[in-house]
Amino acid sequence: MTPFAYVRTSDPNSAIGRVAQRTGAAFIAGGTDLLQLLQEGVEAATELVDINGIGFDDVSETVDGVRIGAMARLADVADDPLIRERYPVVSEALSETASPQVRNMATIGGNLLQRTRCLYFRDIVTPCNKREPGTGCPAQDGQNRINAILGGSDHCIAAYPGDLAVALVAVDAEVMVAGPTGERTIRMEELHRLPGETPDIETVLTPGDLITAIWIPLSAAGRRSGYLKVRDRASFEWALASAAVSLGLDGDHILEARIVVGGVATKPWRLRHVEDMLVDKRLDRELARSAGTLAAEGAAPRAGNAFKVPLLCKTVERALVRVGGLV
Ligand SMILES: Cc1cc2nc3c(=O)[nH]c(=O)nc-3n(C[C@H](O)[C@H](O)[C@H](O)COP(=O)(O)OP(=O)(O)OC[C@H]3O[C@@H](n4cnc5c(N)ncnc54)[C@H](O)[C@@H]3O)c2cc1C
Repeated sequence: MTPFAYVRTSDPNSAIGRVAQRTGAAFIAGGTDLLQLLQEGVEAATELVDINGIGFDDVSETVDGVRIGAMARLADVADDPLIRERYPVVSEALSETASPQVRNMATIGGNLLQRTRCLYFRDIVTPCNKREPGTGCPAQDGQNRINAILGGSDHCIAAYPGDLAVALVAVDAEVMVAGPTGERTIRMEELHRLPGETPDIETVLTPGDLITAIWIPLSAAGRRSGYLKVRDRASFEWALASAAVSLGLDGDHILEARIVVGGVATKPWRLRHVEDMLVDKRLDRELARSAGTLAAEGAAPRAGNAFKVPLLCKTVERALVRVGGLV
């Protein structure tokens, strides 16, 4: 680990200024991802700006939705009554994240910006375009069991690992950001970028941009939502495939649908063609099966992760069956 300076501040503007103005400076929140990356030499920092004193850690009701502070801990948000009642998909995704110890420490903002678990990205003796642009992507023909089957490029097939972001896209959430030039709002769906030729640039954020909160609009579909996660073991593990589903229903008639998948794509992946197929139909098991079959359309599996194609289909089908109350 290379040496770095450490500063704590309770003033968000001072934190933003420090990170914006100093090359190699970074915010540190729960530290559950960043410290590991620094220890293993995957990332290097000149200065860590500890933002644990800045506030922004509550869940509150707004006129037309709910606001979650970026510094709120995953465990607190998972158990929050407002979140459980209005957005079960968010509560379920958080409850299935990591372990109780990590959930007590990790924050909402840090979770969204966690980095991929691709073996080559995390192993500094191997090439990796995401870690060191231009060095190559050995995952294409190498160990790619956990890598993406959707959204990849010749330069990178690293899967986005988080659960929360997938759930938040399914409820049309927005990310509130304060940066060196002021405040702005980004649709959750647009926070993460496709790898393309620049897999090292993972989000639309720029240096000094501080996530301050997530806002989720009120909706009937949000209340009728759920998260299904499939992984190698039942706890302490990232998704091999996951599906976040929210449904606007009139009886069994589907008025609107959001189907977003994780663990299989380079960013939280919205299946618009599946959503379009579902709208205006009667939800039953047959329809759920057809939706599952459509889910992997466009997938580009590699030798080690071809199993994710049927896994994704089944995960989407089962999530629809559960959220639709067909069990
Ligand atoms: C064993 C283990 C298992 C895990 N399993 C899962 C899992 O199943 N699902 C899952 O989703 N995650 C999982 N995780 C990842 C974990 O959830 C993340 O490490 C955690 O959420 C990151 O939050 P943090 O507050 O600790 O972020 P940090 O490590 O402090 O920061 C992460 C990054 O976000 C930046 N950052 C932090 N806060 C802000 C902010 N407000 N604005 C702008 N930038 C910010 C930091 O600069 C850094 O780049 C696991 C982690 C471990 C260690």
